[in-house]
Amino acid sequence: MSAFNRPRLLAPGPVEVSPDTLRSLSQTQIHHRTPEARKAVLEARENLSKLLGTDFEVLITTTSGTGAFEAAIVSLLEDGAEVVCAEAGKFGKRWGQMAEKLGYGVTYVSTEWGKALRPDDVAAAVEGKKALFITHSETSTGVLHDLQAIAKAVRAVNPDLLIYVDAVTSFAVAELRPTEWDLDVIVSGSQKGVAAPPGLGFAMLSPRALEVLNSGKANPRRYYLDLAKELKSQKNGETAQTPAINLIQALNVSTSRLVSIPLEDLWTEKEKMNNALVAAGLALGCTNFAERVSPATAALVPPAPLSGKQVADAMKARGARAAAGQDAFKDSMFRISLMGYYDRYDALAVAGILEDVFAGLGVQFERGVAVKAAWDALKNAAPELVSK
Ligand SMILES: *Cc1c(COP(=O)(O)O)cnc(C)c1O
Repeated sequence: MSAFNRPRLLAPGPVEVSPDTLRSLSQTQIHHRTPEARKAVLEARENLSKLLGTDFEVLITTTSGTGAFEAAIVSLLEDGAEVVCAEAGKFGKRWGQMAEKLGYGVTYVSTEWGKALRPDDVAAAVEGKKALFITHSETSTGVLHDLQAIAKAVRAVNPDLLIYVDAVTSFAVAELRPTEWDLDVIVSGSQKGVAAPPGLGFAMLSPRALEVLNSGKANPRRYYLDLAKELKSQKNGETAQTPAINLIQALNVSTSRLVSIPLEDLWTEKEKMNNALVAAGLALGCTNFAERVSPATAALVPPAPLSGKQVADAMKARGARAAAGQDAFKDSMFRISLMGYYDRYDALAVAGILEDVFAGLGVQFERGVAVKAAWDALKNAAPELVSK
């Protein structure tokens, strides 16, 4: 990166954080057993609840998103319970691997990377099971799974199932309606859609999940990640242990901006911004990796013979931190995200960066095509980009 470049964090998490959110981290350290801290915890829970658009019980963990998922597993599922893990990527698979390590019985429903899970395939696996784990926005492939259709199909087979949603990159980014879609556990983290620094996890529980939580039947081998204990404290703005109170204060600065935007407008704008990235990539000869595009990340396959890593490295040389692919797809794609503190004009900047990057890598195209395509996508909802 040269001194001419401003650094840009375009990876799908951690994301860019607003200056006022960062500034709030330099306040005088407060004690966590004070009215000020209680007020901050209650405000954080309330803002997260608003961003979820429903009155689920919000619990904050001093972990990343993965820790919140683990807390929700050990706090709600009896030792050895049988669960289903529906996955088509790195994150989706993680929840099954975690449950196996924790001693649960896991049945996998898998689809190849880049494809969307089929509701019927998932529904066929859930009879007699206690829980379904599913990742809404699969950040490793850029796919937004059709959670509404999957939940509907699954409920028809197993009405009591606890549906766990990895909403780490869909929360406050993609349309997500936990009550209407009858979901139970929504998990996210501070460094993704809510545009705060990393370090906090969120587990948001439906009335059905709360009933299970309060039944006391879950795995007894838990201590720090005990959501039942947390709930008793957090209802009053307390936490069972010392929370990352500074991060909670920072989160409140970021979420107070986000809650001022009507939720549906937020979803629409994030979708347009991501469609602009996809459109810019397509204009430069890339193909779209995701069958059903998540507004949280654009997963683009560069034209041969370029690798995703080459593109990501060339972006980095211009100050823009993107991500290559993951695991078997490490070299095949690059991923960019405007999930964080970014607006639509940043999508145009990224399109401009991509033009420089692809020109530098020897791709032939007419200057301006990516920026024009990004503009067009911002004007229109561009539904043609939603499927390949
Ligand atoms: C980032 C991410 C995670 C992991 O979250 P951590 O906060 O790093 O634990 C899980 N799922 C998805 C879909 C993600 O994008």
